[in-house]
Amino acid sequence: MRGCLQLARWLSAAPRSPAASFKPPVGFPSHYRTRRSFTQSAVWAASRSKGVSRMPDTDLEKRIAAIPIDRYRNFCIVAHVDHGKSTLSDRLLELTGTIQPGTNKQVLDRLDVERERGITVKAQTCTMIYNHKGEDYLLHLVDTPGHVDFRAEVSRSYASCGGALLLVDASQGVQAQTVANFYLAFSQGLELIPVINKVDLPSADPERALEQMKSSFELDTENAVMVSAKTGVNVEALLPTVVEKIPAPVGDGQKPLRMLLVDSWYDPYKGVILLVRVFDGEVRAGQQLVSFVTGLKYWVGEVGIMYPVETAQSVLRAGQVGYIYFNPGMKRSKEAKIGDTLTTVGSEKAVEPLPGFEEPKSMVFVAVYPMNADHFEHLEDSINQLILNDRSITVQKESSEALGAGFRMGFLGTLHCSVFEDRLRQEHGASIIITPPSVPVKLKWKDGTEEIITNPAKFPDDDSVRLKVAEIQEPYVLATLTFPDEYLGKVIELCESNRGEQQSLEYFTSTQVILKYELPLAHLVDDFFGKLKGSTKGYASLDYEESAWRTGNIVKLQLLVNKVPVDAVARIMHMSQVSRQGRVWVSKFKEHVDRQLFEIIIQAAVGKKIIARETIKPYRKDVLAKLHASDVSRRRKLLEKQKEGRKKLRAVGNVVIEHKAFQAFLSK
Ligand code: GDP
Ligand code: MG
Repeated sequence: MRGCLQLARWLSAAPRSPAASFKPPVGFPSHYRTRRSFTQSAVWAASRSKGVSRMPDTDLEKRIAAIPIDRYRNFCIVAHVDHGKSTLSDRLLELTGTIQPGTNKQVLDRLDVERERGITVKAQTCTMIYNHKGEDYLLHLVDTPGHVDFRAEVSRSYASCGGALLLVDASQGVQAQTVANFYLAFSQGLELIPVINKVDLPSADPERALEQMKSSFELDTENAVMVSAKTGVNVEALLPTVVEKIPAPVGDGQKPLRMLLVDSWYDPYKGVILLVRVFDGEVRAGQQLVSFVTGLKYWVGEVGIMYPVETAQSVLRAGQVGYIYFNPGMKRSKEAKIGDTLTTVGSEKAVEPLPGFEEPKSMVFVAVYPMNADHFEHLEDSINQLILNDRSITVQKESSEALGAGFRMGFLGTLHCSVFEDRLRQEHGASIIITPPSVPVKLKWKDGTEEIITNPAKFPDDDSVRLKVAEIQEPYVLATLTFPDEYLGKVIELCESNRGEQQSLEYFTSTQVILKYELPLAHLVDDFFGKLKGSTKGYASLDYEESAWRTGNIVKLQLLVNKVPVDAVARIMHMSQVSRQGRVWVSKFKEHVDRQLFEIIIQAAVGKKIIARETIKPYRKDVLAKLHASDVSRRRKLLEKQKEGRKKLRAVGNVVIEHKAFQAFLSK
């Protein structure tokens, strides 16, 4: 039945029948959601549990089959965060009849956190059919993340596109991520169409934005399109430009299958679903495929397009972007190597694999512990669920004397990390303890070997450092900052106080500057963006890329409680940071640890050197000390009393610390 409803919508020239007012369940099937938080419409849930998506639709198939590859257009939208990429995507989906107008917001932002925080984390793709001058065109729109943390995701998306809309907010003009993403898109040879958005805003200055595009990117702004994605004004002028300016993909349907694995996600019923871009040949259910990277073989269970949800098709042809999954399903996300090339079994020799992508590296690390040790397994389950759809997160088990068993997890950046934290907290509430983010360091041993350390527990002690370590290095990034020049002094001051090294300073209009600084990643993850916004009244934007490892005076700062180190709190940092951090630690710890029956000495130390110290006076007096040795029963009573509620408490040496205190201490 659904097929008929669809048909009514695709024949968009025909008047809409009453049935067409049926609202397709869009925006949902969040394949990114875990089973537990699965809250879909009944219709959708029912069809899903039978393992089907939208029913195969022969009319849609026929319409697509009639479109030759030279009428395909694969494109994405390049923009700074909040310039309106997701809103514009919605309008384009509506214009092409892919979704009903007004029913959905940010269809392509499928993760809960994406909707809540209004950011795009995962690149999404959607197929649209657009009739231009009487001919159908098959469009694939890829919505890419704007945030720097997800750079790898962005460059992967560009690889499956022929062109991009370079979208700039008319009131804000070109910003840091516009600059960074422009160069990324430009270097991949994408055809760029300048688009000025938010022309409805009273503060809009489209002329200025155009001027900036012209001067900073040397773009021909004659074809620029001025739109309001929110009100829909002039958005209809975009698609003809896409059709005319963006080149069609090249591919040969007669050749053996050559297919790039662009992304993957996990579905509890179907197993791992692959987002693919077919370069040559075609793929259909029943074929047996082989991976060039893993050598593993699979039988194709279903192929289809994202329209905007998984919609089964009998075939995906050269030039198309769509999904496939296997039967039996692929069980482990690890087998889906992003950038892998797949072909049909027997064609391996005839096919040249595609160049693939560089794997993104974790640069920000945190430790995660359950508040209550009994909840370890539940936490492990949740983490495993969440990472099924995010291969860029790394996880290792670790255990701490103070906090018991937990995990050390690596992320691409701080936003990536805090998005994950949000999702974990949505499931676990306040029952987890997460340490502040830290960055890796590189040890160069005197024997010539190198080691990357992400866990302070693995940092060598004083003697080993002196005897065996040649150099310790920390990661730097090249940061690009754009802001109005009145804040130049303040921003330079901020960068310098964060051990930054200026690389360049340029004006790209008479009042806007682009400043480049080499900064230690450790400072960048320590809320540098927040501080930057603070110094510029929110007018600055930031982007960064990895730069190099640099030698520095790197040490491990420890917190000692009555001389015993609290391992969960230890951090690796630059020597210039230890005295400030040490003082913060001891005073904060004092605040959160209750008085006990004896005196507690809290110290921050680097090796044997004490950096800061506080004491917590005993609760009344040290009763145990005063007791007579023979007063056995009373002594036992006191100790038994202390034992009560042990589960929630942790002993560090002879000091008992509540888990709650750790949580308060470690939180910002
Ligand atoms: P993205 O981060 O690039 O995906 O940006 P979004 O599409 O999420 O938009 C960011 C914000 O700008 C949202 O609050 C939108 O409602 C708003 N917005 C998007 N386009 C327009 C527009 O044309 N005019 C106005 N006034 N606001 C817009
Ligand atoms: Mg968005």
